[in-house]
Amino acid sequence: MPAPLIYNLDLNSITELMTSWGEPSYRAKQIWAGLYQHFYQSASQFPNLPKALREKMANELDFVGIEPVRYLDSSDKQTRKTLFKLPDGHFIEAVLMRYGDPADVPSPPTPLPPGEGRRGEGKPRRTLCISTQAGCAMGCVFCATGQMGFKRHLTSGEIVAQVMYYARLLHEENSSVTNIVLMGMGEPFHNYDHTLAAIDRLNDPDGYHFGARRFTVSTVGLVPQIKRFADEKRQVNLAISLHASDDALRQSMLPVNKKYNIDEVLEACRYYVDQTGRRITFEWALIHGVNDTPEEARKLAARLKGLLCHVNAIPLNPTHGYQGRATTRESAWRFKELLEQAGIPCTIRMRRGIDIQAGCGQLAFSV
Ligand code: SAH
Ligand code: SF4
Repeated sequence: MPAPLIYNLDLNSITELMTSWGEPSYRAKQIWAGLYQHFYQSASQFPNLPKALREKMANELDFVGIEPVRYLDSSDKQTRKTLFKLPDGHFIEAVLMRYGDPADVPSPPTPLPPGEGRRGEGKPRRTLCISTQAGCAMGCVFCATGQMGFKRHLTSGEIVAQVMYYARLLHEENSSVTNIVLMGMGEPFHNYDHTLAAIDRLNDPDGYHFGARRFTVSTVGLVPQIKRFADEKRQVNLAISLHASDDALRQSMLPVNKKYNIDEVLEACRYYVDQTGRRITFEWALIHGVNDTPEEARKLAARLKGLLCHVNAIPLNPTHGYQGRATTRESAWRFKELLEQAGIPCTIRMRRGIDIQAGCGQLAFSV
C-alpha cells in the first residue's frame, strides 16, 4: 500500500497515529505546527522530533503527494501556473496571482475607465486558484477543463498540498497567501466532502489558520450542495457560475442546466443568502454577441432583483474547443453600466495569465 499523504490527516488522525506508534500525543501538535506554520516538506526537517521518529515518518508517510513538474510565469511575472503530477499519473494545475505590488501601479497614475478602481492598491494580494478534481465531469463547452473530461476527485490532502506548495514559495520571499479561490480544475461541489475538509484543515487555528472569509468556492450550480453549504453557515464566500439568464442559452453552454435550471439555482441562492446573510457572487464569462448584449444585461438584472449579490464579469478566455470570442471593452462596460443602473453591482475582472493559459477556464493538462 502506498504511504498515506500527510496532508490527508487532520490533527486527530495524526494524534491517533502517534498513539499507535507509542509516541506521546504532543508529537502530533509538533508535527502539525511543522507542516502548517513552518511549511516543512520532509520528515528530516522537523528539528524538535527524535531521529527515530523522523525516520519512521519518512518511511511511513508521504510528504509530497503532488509533484511539481513544471511552472510557467506570465510575461509580466505576476502570474505563475504550476503543473503537478499526482501519484497515479494524472495532472492538475494551480495558479498564483499577484496583485497590487508597487510595480503594478502606474506612476504617475493614469486615468482609469469609469468604475474601475484600484482595489487593493498599496496592499499586495497573493491569490491562489487551486484545483479540486483532475479534469471535470460538468462539460461546460467553453472551459478547457470541461473539454478534457473527468479523471478523478482530488483527496483533501491533494487540495491542501497545492496551498502548502505556494505558501512555502511565498514564505521564502517573506510573503504569504492572502486569498484562496477554489476555481481551478474541477467542480468543488462535485467533490464536496474533500473540498470542505481541505478548507477546514487550512482554517485550523493551531495550523495554517487561513481565515474562512478569505476562501471563495465557485460552483457551476449544483443545487443540493448549495443548500447544504447554506445550512452549514460557513463564512466562506460562494460564487455561482451563471453565464446566461435564460435556460436555453445556459443549457447550450452548461449541460448541468438540464439537471438544475436557473430558477432552481437562484432559489438555492436566495436560500443561501437567507441562511447566511452573506452576499453571493455570480460569475459571467462575457462572450461576444452571445451573453454580452444589452438585452442579456437587462434580463439578468431582472432575475437578480432583490438578491444580495454582485456580478463578476470576465471577458471569455480562449480555449481550443470553443469558437466563441471574448466581448469587446465597450460591450463589457455597457453590460456593467446596465446592471449597475438596475442596482446590481458588477465588476469587470482583469484577465490574468492569458499568455500562459492560466486564466479562468484555461486550466487543462497539455504538453
Ligand atoms: N467548476 C467551478 C469552478 C472552476 S471554473 C465553476 O464552474 O464555477 C472557474 C470559473 O471559470 C467559472 O466561473 C467558470 O464558468 C469560468 N470559466 C470557465 N471557462 C472559462 C473561459 N473560457 N473564460 C472565462 N471564464 C471561464
Ligand atoms: Fe467544470 Fe467549472 Fe469548467 Fe464547468 S466551468 S467544466 S464546472 S471546471
